[in-house]
Parts: sequence; C-alpha cells; structure tokens
Amino acid sequence: MSIQTSSVRHVKIVATLGPASSSGEVIEELLRSGVDIVRLNLAYGTLEEHARVIGLIRRVSQELGLPTAVLLDMPGSKRRTGDTSALFAEQLEFARAQGADIAALSFLTSAQQIAEVKALLRQMVFDIQVMAKIEQAAALEQSEEIIAASDGVMVARGDLALEISIEKVPLAQKRLIRAANRKGRPVITATEMLMSMVGSKTPTRAEATDVANAVLDGTDAVMLSEETAIGKYPVEAVRTMARIILETETALPYQQMSYERDPAMLPEINDATARAACQIASQIGAKGIIAFTEGGSTALRVSKYRPRQPILAVTPSERVMRRLSLLWGVYPVRKSVPGSLDDVFALAGEVAQERGAATRGDLIVITAGIPLAVTGSTNLVKVHVV
Ligand code: PGA
Ligand code: MN
Repeated sequence: MSIQTSSVRHVKIVATLGPASSSGEVIEELLRSGVDIVRLNLAYGTLEEHARVIGLIRRVSQELGLPTAVLLDMPGSKRRTGDTSALFAEQLEFARAQGADIAALSFLTSAQQIAEVKALLRQMVFDIQVMAKIEQAAALEQSEEIIAASDGVMVARGDLALEISIEKVPLAQKRLIRAANRKGRPVITATEMLMSMVGSKTPTRAEATDVANAVLDGTDAVMLSEETAIGKYPVEAVRTMARIILETETALPYQQMSYERDPAMLPEINDATARAACQIASQIGAKGIIAFTEGGSTALRVSKYRPRQPILAVTPSERVMRRLSLLWGVYPVRKSVPGSLDDVFALAGEVAQERGAATRGDLIVITAGIPLAVTGSTNLVKVHVV
C-alpha cells in the first residue's frame, strides 16, 4: 500500500457488512477499494455467521497486508432495565472470543455507563476500544462527558433523528464532531451517507455533498450501512466515498484546523510534543510524520493536531495497529522497535520509503516516547533526512 503525497486520504471509511458483502470476494474488493474499518451489526444475523465473516476479514486483510479493524456494533436497549455492563456482557464476551478491535455501544445516555462497561472490561482483562453511539437526546446533552469517558463516538444520525427531530441533526453533527476533535477522540459520522446507492450506481448530489461536509466538519471517519450491507453496489459505494473524500481533502484548511485545536492544548508533555511535531512538519514541508507508538497514544495525539502529512504510526502490537486504523490521517505499520535511538531513526526512514511517503533526501519528522516501552510518554521530536 503506497501513500504518495497526492493520494494521502486522511478520513477513514467504515463499511457495514451484511448479506451483500459477506463473501471472501466482496470483502477483498471492499478492502482494496479503501475500507479501513469493517462493522458488523450484532442486531442482525447469528453469532456463528458473524464469527465466520470475521474469520474472512482477518484472512483477507492479512493477505493484502492491511491493518483492517473490526468494529462490533452492540444493540443494547432503548428502554434500559438493570445495569449497563450486564446488557453488553454477552456481546463483549463474543468480541473477546473473536479478538474484535472496537465495541460500539448503542443507546448510551451517560458517561457513567461507559465507566461501568470499562470496569467490566478490566475484570475481563479485555482491552477493546469503547465507542459510544450518540443516538439519544440524553446522550447529546451529556456529550462532553461521554466523549471524555469513551475512546471514540459515533454520530448515529439514524436513531438520533427519531429522538431529537430531523432538523436538529445537522447542527448536532457539527457540535459533536467539534467536541470530539477538541478532546482528541475519534468520531465516526454515520447513516444514510450514500443511501441511494443501495439501488443505484451513483449517489445523489445531496449525498455527495453530505460526505464532503462531514469531511469539512472534521470527522475522522464516515460510515456506510445499508449501502454495503444489503445494497446492490457495495464496492461502488466505497469507491465513490473514497473519491469524494480525496477530492474534498484537497481543500481542507490544515493550518486552520491545527490552530483551532489551540484551545484544546493540554499542559502535558505528550500533547505539546505531538503538536510540535505537526508544526515542524508543516513549516519545513516534511513528507511524513513517523510516530512510534506502543499503546497508540502518540499516534492519537498527533492525529488530534491534523497534519497534512501522513502519520505513519509504527507499533509492535497487532491489536494496536488495527485500532489505529480509525484515526484521521494515521497509516498503521507493524514493526518491532529497536532498542537504540539511532536504529529507531533509521527504521523511520525505511518505513517512510517502504510506504512511498518519502524518497532519499526527503525530510521526515519522527516522534516517540523515550523510553520506548512506556506508553503515553511522547517526549521526543527529531527531524530526519531520509
Ligand atoms: P444503527 O446505528 O445502524 O445501529 O441503528 C446507527 C444510527 O442509529 O444511525
Ligand atoms: Mn442506531
């Protein structure tokens, strides 16, 4: 997978699988066409069928050398009885058995519920990203706290429209994306983005504009649901989405997006270091930012400051590699990381060349936390000539 500067896509694509897209052939075409995260909706189908499809995704992504993440969407219940962790316990058990990367929780209304689920996950000794679907009026009211407590959020426009009335959805989307951006949490914009492609080879003008506007709002990812799950043209829907994103990104005001993050700067070494890496890369026209990241936090911080350059996130962990697929601008790379700093810098140059981001003589910016094995300790920026 090569990422020449002209073809760097920052915004990620989530595709929901279903009857139209559960064969190895279609999954391969979807991944080749740009799907970064595959979503399985546990509200439909059997666990056996989902397990079979997850097996296919893992095999195909391995063959293609792609860091595809698996997101399991967990239905939960609108009318809540009893405690939240009990509601999701069985589905989280399935997620663990399948090694899923992200759990999206439906109909959450408070940060407390996320804390409950995270407590359960600690008990299970299961490390999965917890994403809150914002689809209730109460969740919208509590969105700041929910975003802070979660590893990411989804603007679940389908149910949200039923809850708060449809004319309120556009501004809710903008508000949620902005809040997630400021907190440095990934956000997925979801539902009906290219809906008419369920039956048609091309989207409507309004749909194309909807995808473009989500990109301009600052979303990390856009999602396809019925389009890829039950539609007639799943692969075309992904290709269309990728083309709209790439075209729209040519007009993204990277500099301005970065300044808009200023109020969200944290008085912390890792946040300051990540921001400095982006600033230096911009000022010197570097070809890429190479982020060495043990648990993923260095890559998350760099993504928060929205650099124009691709963020090559190097991690030794396969699980971390896959979860990083969701982050804006991040290209995850799995490599074991050498012990000496000189070897780390040399590896950064090799990775940048391997991925086609840079050639000999180009400048790259390297960021890492020293010592390398301690997660959350980003504290180094190095300008490097490849
Ligand atoms: P769903 O969630 O597809 O699981 O309902 C997304 C939404 O409500 O928009
Ligand atoms: Mn929903």
